Amino acid sequence: MIKTDALIIGAGPTGLFTAHQLKLIGLNCEIVDNLDKIGGQCIELYPDKPIYDIPAVPECTGEELTKNLINQLKPFDIRFHLNERVDEIKKENENWTVKTNNNKKFSTPNVIIAGGVGSFEPRKFSVKECEKFEEKSILYSIRDKNIFKGKTVSIFGGGDSALDWAVELSKNSKVNLIHRRDDFRGAQATVDKVHQLAKEEKINLYTRYQMSQIKGDNQLESIEIKNDDKETKTLKTDYALGFFGLIMQLGPIANWGLNIYKKTIEVDTEKFETNQKGIYAVGDICSYPGKLKLILSGFHEGALAARACFKLARPNEKYRFEFTTSSKTIKDRLGVKGD
Ligand SMILES: Cc1cc2nc3c(=O)[nH]c(=O)nc-3n(C[C@H](O)[C@H](O)[C@H](O)COP(=O)(O)OP(=O)(O)OC[C@H]3O[C@@H](n4cnc5c(N)ncnc54)[C@H](O)[C@@H]3O)c2cc1C
Repeated sequence: MIKTDALIIGAGPTGLFTAHQLKLIGLNCEIVDNLDKIGGQCIELYPDKPIYDIPAVPECTGEELTKNLINQLKPFDIRFHLNERVDEIKKENENWTVKTNNNKKFSTPNVIIAGGVGSFEPRKFSVKECEKFEEKSILYSIRDKNIFKGKTVSIFGGGDSALDWAVELSKNSKVNLIHRRDDFRGAQATVDKVHQLAKEEKINLYTRYQMSQIKGDNQLESIEIKNDDKETKTLKTDYALGFFGLIMQLGPIANWGLNIYKKTIEVDTEKFETNQKGIYAVGDICSYPGKLKLILSGFHEGALAARACFKLARPNEKYRFEFTTSSKTIKDRLGVKGD
């Protein structure tokens, strides 16, 4: 059980800046995110697109904003728990016990939900039997490419992820690339590379095909693919990888006893607290009259929620408002020397 003053659900821009605000006022925090990387929508949906309305930053991309937010957290020791989806929140005595899908547990008086539009989940194969092999030989993301060395890998999808991995894995594995259309959506250079590798018989390309069946008892043995003319092919395979993009789901958050309005969580505008004491919601996931789904709003909401956490985390202390420019305590926390 990990004990902390505040647990932040979501490592998007709001979660990151909220962590900064908590640390500035002397509270500990941990951050959990379902994705394998930090940055939320900015990094997952538009890393290369410029943003023009971050205060005092005339222009920066989603990736640059994320990097800057991470840099701003450098003075602090903050633990990120990635690839973990928060599934359960339960009140135990004065604290909330928070559990992830991988059974990580946290105990905290304050939970700050910065979950954006919900957790990003991979879109999965429609063949039901795939569930049996999920996380073993049917995968939707790659953590260690070495497991595919010398194996046969069937990659499904027509976007950048499918194409990039087909090119990469073709160096050490037998690769089947299967896509339901003739056209690919990836970068033209990668599309060209795939066609060249197919010509050199380093990638077996099957377009206008989709998975129709899988075979295997304890281990995946083969997959059957079908095209629009109902022609089928059976491919022996060790792994099947699906890259069909991500869907966003409010998911478990909907079951935590919070007041939900149009897939967002209702909060007050003083502390950004929900209808449950000690649970706050900030950023895109919260709703209140006049809410703007902008990054700058998330920053403000996180700053106020962090101050509200102080009361429950340090019941015997009084919170004192201070400026970063002039507070010695804050400068010490930041590791800044001088006046
Ligand atoms: C194409 C595009 C362009 C945009 N341009 C702008 C712009 O120019 N200016 C602007 O201000 N805004 C812009 N936005 C909106 C902006 O990106 C969002 O307002 C912002 O990302 C919200 O931040 P957040 O931290 O609240 O949520 P998110 O960025 O959505 O992050 C939430 C995180 O929470 C995680 N999460 C959710 N549920 C769970 C769970 N149960 N367990 C673990 N983790 C969970 C998710 O995986 C995700 O990483 C744009 C959005 C898009 C899509």
